[in-house]
Amino acid sequence: MKRVKRIALVAHDNQKRDIVDWVERNADILRRHKLISTGTTGRLILEMLNKTHPDDHIDITLLKSGPLGGDQQIGAMICNQEIDFLIFLTDPMTPQPHDVDVKALVRVAVIYNIIMACNLASADFAIHSTLFDTDYTPQSQDYSKYLRRDW
Ligand code: PGA
Repeated sequence: MKRVKRIALVAHDNQKRDIVDWVERNADILRRHKLISTGTTGRLILEMLNKTHPDDHIDITLLKSGPLGGDQQIGAMICNQEIDFLIFLTDPMTPQPHDVDVKALVRVAVIYNIIMACNLASADFAIHSTLFDTDYTPQSQDYSKYLRRDW
C-alpha cells in the first residue's frame, strides 16, 4: 500500500448522514487520498463538499448504487488490488435487499487483508493511525495450498 490510499466509502441508508459528517470532519486528511464510492453515498458526499468546500476540488469516483451492483464493483476492485481501505458503514438493525452483496464485500476485504472499518470509531482510528500516512506492506495471505488442493 502506498502512502496515498485508495479509499472506498459505502454507507447504508441509515448511516448516510454519519458518513457525510465524517467526511466533512476529515476532509483535510481525505483530500490527500483517492476516494471511490457507491453511487448514492458518493453523490451525498459530493453535494456536501460542494457546499462546504466550494473552491476546493475533492474528486470521488462514483460507481453504481450498492444494491444495483456497486458493492460488487468495489469487491472486484479489492480483488484487483485497487482499494486499500474500505469504510463500510453497515446498518445492524435493518435487513438489506442486497445482503448477499454486503457479506461478499466484507468477505473479500478480509481475504485481501485491506483496511476495513464498519463503524465510525474504527474509521477514526484507521485514519489517525501513524501507519496511515506511510507506505505499508501488509503480511501477505498465502492461499497457495488452497489453489493446489487435490481433486
Ligand atoms: P449506495 O449503496 O451508496 O448507492 O446507497 C450503498 C449500499 O451498498 O447499500
